[in-house]
Amino acid sequence: MPYESQMSDLAEGAINQHGELVEVLFLKNNNKDSVLVFSNVAVVPVDYHYHGYDIRQEAYAFRVAAQLGGTDPFSLLTFGYSGTGPQCYATFLETAGFLDTNVMDIKAPLKLKADGTRINGTNRQAKWTQEITGNSIDDARQKIEEPKFPDACILFEEVVSDGADATKTVTVDTSSQEEAERTAKKQVPPSSEILEIRTVDKQTFHVEKIEALNETEASTKAKERIKSAESAYKSLAGVTCVREAHKGFLGIGKKPGIWEARYNLSQKEVTIRFRPPATIRIHYGSKKLKCNQCGNAMTTTTDGISYVGAGPSVESAVLKLRCEKCDITRIEKKWEIEGEWIAWDDGGYTIL
Ligand SMILES: [Zn+2]
Repeated sequence: MPYESQMSDLAEGAINQHGELVEVLFLKNNNKDSVLVFSNVAVVPVDYHYHGYDIRQEAYAFRVAAQLGGTDPFSLLTFGYSGTGPQCYATFLETAGFLDTNVMDIKAPLKLKADGTRINGTNRQAKWTQEITGNSIDDARQKIEEPKFPDACILFEEVVSDGADATKTVTVDTSSQEEAERTAKKQVPPSSEILEIRTVDKQTFHVEKIEALNETEASTKAKERIKSAESAYKSLAGVTCVREAHKGFLGIGKKPGIWEARYNLSQKEVTIRFRPPATIRIHYGSKKLKCNQCGNAMTTTTDGISYVGAGPSVESAVLKLRCEKCDITRIEKKWEIEGEWIAWDDGGYTIL
């Protein structure tokens, strides 16, 4: 296998520096995003660029890179479902003493432990929404699902459409009633019930200015301007001279005159009466987003958060929640309020 000795060297170097490799977390992206967890609690992301990890801390990797003629050894641990990548990863894990080294059939998120145990994870989001439609608001409410996770709750319900009858009028440039109705129907919300559709002819006209030497040329040019796609509903009614052609400067040559081309346009005015489906949008989220006193969803802000002797990373890690009704605020961890994370089946979590 190519790179076998280099992958062994990489694993040995990492273990010398950080202690035993305890577990590997496969996070996402076709297994291109995995994380190495060592016994001295060092956590090394394989895709260190993406995670903003300073790879200069891994001095052993530079010796291996030199053997590889400058190739980044960690890049060999990012892989798809077959080929060199999984083989490199298997060699790395074997050197680290892992019992199960087959990473070919990994479906992220998955945690692989040294003893071969595999622990599944679930991708979680602090906030998400779901749209539900029905014959009425009450009917839509019957279909509301309870959140799958015990620490999640319904924050609030938003009425997108109450399902009341509505009317819309659309004007379409066409001579075809069928086309006019088809175009107009696209402008009502999907799954609406069409109650009535009325189409009336509307004749109108359109004027354009054209330069020409005489009426024949003006007429020809005017007809040429009608695109083939328009010919079904646009026709030339006539041309009128606005300014005659005249001799050029010092009587040399001939300057074109100005003509007005008048076009007839066929339009249809379609009026649709329709009943849109009743639609509600359910906002789900972390229970931490609710006020402990009144149960309302709280608003989030970073206003007024300040630290003594702490860097900006700490500041961006928390949010202030505020209940307008009770006029109270509290501080929560940002990732639990707005973040994305993986909840592992053994109870742990990884913030993405
Ligand atoms: Zn409250």
